[in-house]
Amino acid sequence: MTDTKYIFVTGGVVSSLGKGIVSASLGKLLQARGYKVTIQKFDPYINIDPGTLNPYEHGECYVTVDGRETDLDLGHYERFLNIQTTRANNVTTGRIYQSVIDKERRGDYLGKTVQIIPHITDEIKRNVKLLGTKNKFDFVITEIGGTVGDIESLPFIESVRQLKWELGKNCLCVHLTYVPYIAAAKEFKTKPTQHSVKQLQELGIQPDILVLRTEKLLNHDIIRKVALFCNVADGSVMQSVDVPTIYEVPLLLQKQEIDIRVLEKVGLQVGPTPEMKQWREFLDRKTNAKETVKIGLIGKYVELQDAYKSIDESLLLAAIYNDRRLDLHLIHSEKINDNNAAELLSGMDGLVIAPGFGNRGIEGKFAAIKYARENNKPCLGICLGMQCMVIEFARNVLGLEEANSTEMARNTPYKVIDLMEEQKNITNMGGTMRLGAYECVLQKGSKAWQAYGKEQIQERHRHRFEFNNEYKKQFEDAGMRFTGENPETGLIEVAELPELKWFVGVQYHPEYNSTVINPNPLFVSFVKAAIENK
Ligand code: GLN
Repeated sequence: MTDTKYIFVTGGVVSSLGKGIVSASLGKLLQARGYKVTIQKFDPYINIDPGTLNPYEHGECYVTVDGRETDLDLGHYERFLNIQTTRANNVTTGRIYQSVIDKERRGDYLGKTVQIIPHITDEIKRNVKLLGTKNKFDFVITEIGGTVGDIESLPFIESVRQLKWELGKNCLCVHLTYVPYIAAAKEFKTKPTQHSVKQLQELGIQPDILVLRTEKLLNHDIIRKVALFCNVADGSVMQSVDVPTIYEVPLLLQKQEIDIRVLEKVGLQVGPTPEMKQWREFLDRKTNAKETVKIGLIGKYVELQDAYKSIDESLLLAAIYNDRRLDLHLIHSEKINDNNAAELLSGMDGLVIAPGFGNRGIEGKFAAIKYARENNKPCLGICLGMQCMVIEFARNVLGLEEANSTEMARNTPYKVIDLMEEQKNITNMGGTMRLGAYECVLQKGSKAWQAYGKEQIQERHRHRFEFNNEYKKQFEDAGMRFTGENPETGLIEVAELPELKWFVGVQYHPEYNSTVINPNPLFVSFVKAAIENK
C-alpha cells in the first residue's frame, strides 16, 4: 500500500459513548484484513499527560512501554489490536502548546505572530501524521477526545477539517452519536444526532460514517431518517447497540460492514471478509463459561467504573482463558479491618490488592492481606499492593510494628519500602516516576516463573518507592522470597510466600500488558489458583 490513510473518530451529543471501543473495533477489523494499523488519542485538556490527574477526574492512567502516562483508551487499543502503543499515541492540548511555545522561544517563528491558526493547528496536524510517516502504517486512526462543540476541542476539529481537505480520499471521519429512547413516548429520538452532525458540518466537516449508540436495536426507518438528515449514505450509518461485552463490538460492526465502507471510501480493494477466527473463539469461550470465579479487588476507588480498568479487563481475560465467568467484587479498602475481614473476604476465591498512592485506605489493605496470608487465600498484590504485602509481613510476622513505606510515614523507624535513590532529588511531579517497561529476572521454581514459563520478562512500571534491600535477609529468614529482580539495579520486582498456595506481589503492573489474544500469564495463573481454591 502506498499512502497512509487517516481515519478520525469524533463524538457528539454526550461523552462516554465509547469512542475508544469503536476506534479499537474498527482498527481490529482493518487489522484482520492484513493492514498495519495504529490508533492514537488526542485529548483536549491542558495537562501535558493524565499522570497528575486522579481517577475521579479521568479514570485509570495507562502506561506505555516507553514510559508515557496516557489515557485509558490506549489500553483498549492495545487489548483489541494486540499492539504496543508509544508516547506518540497520546497527545494533549498541553503538549501541543508546549511544543509551539518552545519553538517560539527558540525563534522558529521569528517575526511572526504565533496563533491558533496556523501554528497550533499545524502542530496538531504534524502530530496526527507522525505515526503514519515514521512507522509506515496503512491506517492511522485518531480518536478526538471530548464532544464536538466543546470550546476545547475546536482546534482539533479545525485540524481535521484541514486534513480532510489536504488528504482527500486518504482521509475520512467517523462520527459517533447517541440516539436516546424515550420510554414514555416509546420512541427513539434522532434530533440530538441531527444537531450534532449539523454542528460538525458548521465546522466544515461532513462525516463519512455515522455510528449511532443506542440502548435498544434501531429499526431501518430510524437509520434511513438519520442518513437523510445528515447527508450520509444509508449504508454508512451504523448502530452500536448495548452488548454484554465490549469485545462483541468488532463483530457487531463487521456485520454492518463498517470496514468495507472505509475501504471503499479510501479506494482500496475490499476482498473477502476476514473470519476473525481467534476473536470468535475467544467470545465462544466467554459464552460457554458457565462456572464463575469470584475475585475481590481491594482498592479505594470502588465507586468509579474506570479507576482500575486494565486490572478489571485483565481479570476478565484471565477468567475466560480459564473457562470461567468473572464475578468481580470491588471492595472498599477503607471499610476493611481485622474484625470484619473474614466476613467481607471469606466468600472470595482470590484477592487482588490494587495499586495506588497515599495513605487513604491503606490500613484496610493490610487487613485484607493479613486475612489472605493467614487463611491461605490466593492473593495478587500490584505495585502499592505488593508494597503493602511487604509492610504487613514486616508488622505481623517480623514484629516490626511501625514498619511502613516512607510514602505513608516519612519517619517510620522501619522503612521497609523507601523512596528510590534516583527519585530523591526530583521535585517536578509530572512524568517523573519510574515509568515504562523494565527487565525482570525471575527465580526458577517460583510462582511467578511458573506463570510466565521463563526467566526473563519485561513489564511496565509506575512508581517512586521500592522494597528496601537492607531488610532482605530478615524477610527471607522469616519465609518471604524475592523471586524477581531488575538485573541491573537489584530492585525487587516480585515478592512471594512460597509456602502458601498463591501469594505474589509485583512491583510492576501486569495489567498494562494483557490483550485478548495474549492474556498476561500472571493473571491467568492467579485466577487458576483462585479456581483451585474454590
Ligand atoms: N505509591 C507507590 C509508589 O509510588 C505505588 C504506586 C502504584 O501503585 N502505582 O511507589
